[in-house]
Amino acid sequence: MFDVIIIGGGPAGLASALTLGRALKTTLVIDNNNPRNKVTHESHAYLTQDGVTPETLRSNAERDVNKYEHVQRISDTVTHVEQATDYFIIQTKSTTYYTRKLILAMGLKETLPDIPGTRACYGTSLFYCPWCDGYELRDRSLIVSVPATHIRHMSKLVPNWSQDIVMHVADGASPDDEDKTYLDRKGIQLITSTITEFQHTEGHLTAVSFADGTSINRDGGLISIEVNSDFDFLHPLQLHREDNGRITTNDFSETSVSGVFVVGESKNIMPSQLIDAASDGNTVAKFVALQLIEDND
Ligand SMILES: Cc1cc2nc3c(=O)[nH]c(=O)nc-3n(C[C@H](O)[C@H](O)[C@H](O)COP(=O)(O)OP(=O)(O)OC[C@H]3O[C@@H](n4cnc5c(N)ncnc54)[C@H](O)[C@@H]3O)c2cc1C
Repeated sequence: MFDVIIIGGGPAGLASALTLGRALKTTLVIDNNNPRNKVTHESHAYLTQDGVTPETLRSNAERDVNKYEHVQRISDTVTHVEQATDYFIIQTKSTTYYTRKLILAMGLKETLPDIPGTRACYGTSLFYCPWCDGYELRDRSLIVSVPATHIRHMSKLVPNWSQDIVMHVADGASPDDEDKTYLDRKGIQLITSTITEFQHTEGHLTAVSFADGTSINRDGGLISIEVNSDFDFLHPLQLHREDNGRITTNDFSETSVSGVFVVGESKNIMPSQLIDAASDGNTVAKFVALQLIEDND
């Protein structure tokens, strides 16, 4: 029986493991090495490791965690999680584990637009987060393809990095008149025709083609993605969720099931950043350790 099992070994899960290891709690990290950012080449904005590859950032974090004798890490996939009396049963593809507390750190599930060329360009010249990759896209000719409701926000934000932007309505809805007036005033072109292809050379965007037969040269872009935390293995726990799908938590990041905590991106329905995930993992691990200490008091 472990004190804590952590599902997910990204920055959130490993930061939790580091703090729990230092608190002498027997901890198992189960991870199948499939983070969302594996497609990209550099991790930005993580203090002390800005610009390293995602693999380097992760292996540096694993090296930190490996120093602590109370922490084990295994490479496996969790397939089923269930609550017993005062513990949890964690089923992986290969084994069954038992734990007093459970930390969910499995990140988010992500769906990209179903447009030819997207997957090849994603992480190289197409991104979704200007705070993560806006600096690398600076001064490039950009396409910004977002739902109508985000057009105004992104047309204000993205010119911070590049003045050469074309806005595209990704969901076929019509921006309201105020948005159109704003774009006109700023001299930003708006395209509503469906994108049919992101043309590229080895992931580097060269042009964007539209259903109306037109095409524009672009060498980078920001696109909208869909994310959720609805992982099948969680279903037996019947975690309470908000109307928007977010897992309900209290102030200590404990879910509606006592002893089950959620950290990092899994906690939100919006993508976040590596350093935010790590910070959250550290914070919540202290709550988990405290609960274990109190349980034994
Ligand atoms: C293209 C792209 C570029 C990005 N660039 C940046 C950047 O430059 N800077 C930045 O700060 N952020 C960036 N991000 C965001 C960053 O990747 C996330 O904020 C961060 O990874 C979230 O950390 P996490 O620990 O919550 O989740 P993750 O890092 O996603 O870790 C979750 C882990 O859980 C594992 N897992 C999931 N399900 C299971 C299961 N059933 N069994 C076992 N393991 C499981 C996954 O394999 C994964 O390893 C980028 C994201 C993308 C997609």
